[in-house]
Amino acid sequence: KETSARENNVAKIKVVVRKRPLNKKEMARKEDDIVTVQENALLTVHEPKLKVDLTAYVEKHEFCFDAVLDENVTNDEMYRMTVEPIIPTIFQRTKATCFAYGQTGSGKTYTMQPLPLRAVKDIVRILHQPVYRKEGFRLWLSYFEIYGVKLFDLLSARKKLCMREDGRQQVCIVGLQEFEVSDVQIVKEFIEKGNSARSTGSTGANEESSRSHAILQLVVKKHNEVKESKRNNDGNESRNGKVVGKISFIDLAGSERGADTTDNDRQTRIEGAEINKSLLALKECIRALDNDRLHIPFRGSKLTEVLRDSFVGNSKTVMISCISPSAGSCEHTLNTLRYADRVK
Ligand code: ADP
Ligand code: MG
Repeated sequence: KETSARENNVAKIKVVVRKRPLNKKEMARKEDDIVTVQENALLTVHEPKLKVDLTAYVEKHEFCFDAVLDENVTNDEMYRMTVEPIIPTIFQRTKATCFAYGQTGSGKTYTMQPLPLRAVKDIVRILHQPVYRKEGFRLWLSYFEIYGVKLFDLLSARKKLCMREDGRQQVCIVGLQEFEVSDVQIVKEFIEKGNSARSTGSTGANEESSRSHAILQLVVKKHNEVKESKRNNDGNESRNGKVVGKISFIDLAGSERGADTTDNDRQTRIEGAEINKSLLALKECIRALDNDRLHIPFRGSKLTEVLRDSFVGNSKTVMISCISPSAGSCEHTLNTLRYADRVK
């Protein structure tokens, strides 16, 4: 009873904005910090503008979110604010998703990377409780990316994967490797391995990774030891377990990439169109969730199709919008905040 009360206290959708500090390049260019944070939930963007007669003025844009975190906030505080409250709900059949949204260089990966590590620590602590141990609860990890409309397993030499629906609204990613995890160190190794698989493009790491969505999933399954004495033919033990709940950490493609639809390069245009489609579809799905609508428009993109089972039933969504404070990023920052504003 106590846990269900606690679950109800966790908002279904939470929208958090994180402002990063000015970086060296921005400081070298003597760029202004145009973002101010007030009272942990309010934020103002001071947009530099010019009148027709070229006199400068500032246009103020104010926004309000569930939380706004400034450049002094640590990753640890970030975790406590966003993911920590959700962890117990995973044991109550919740499918949770945590997104990092923003332009390339705004801090998505910096924010996202430490979250699953902290989450595993907390999940493992709960798994060790006798009640869960006795019932055969175990934790599994997978890590894959969506590039265009294709899926690749980041923990299995970037093997191409395909998605299937089983008719019961369950999404199955055929061939995706799941690994059992019981401590934080091994998760660290998996994440590093996955990250190096991500950066295989010819144009360099950040350039490539900004065009794909990376999805790390932690899945709690209940295993029936008796049935499992008969192993599946494919030897994949995790398939035997029944999914209890899960949390997905999604490092989204750079939001500015969705605008690459007029690029000279055809491939870039195609990728840009898909990124644009997926970010729009994601927004619509989260909005539908918020209104408890029966129809969730998850068919709008590969990303939302893959996340389908996280949009139905017990779900929790955290959207972390990352922004740069610099004047030079003003337009992208406003776009990111407007997107977040539509989701909240
Ligand atoms: P993205 O994944 O959105 O492209 P990154 O996470 O790679 O951006 O961040 C870009 C750079 O800014 C990195 O060097 C990162 O270490 C730094 N950075 C991002 N956010 C913060 C922060 N809150 N505090 C300090 N440095 C940060
Ligand atoms: Mg990144």
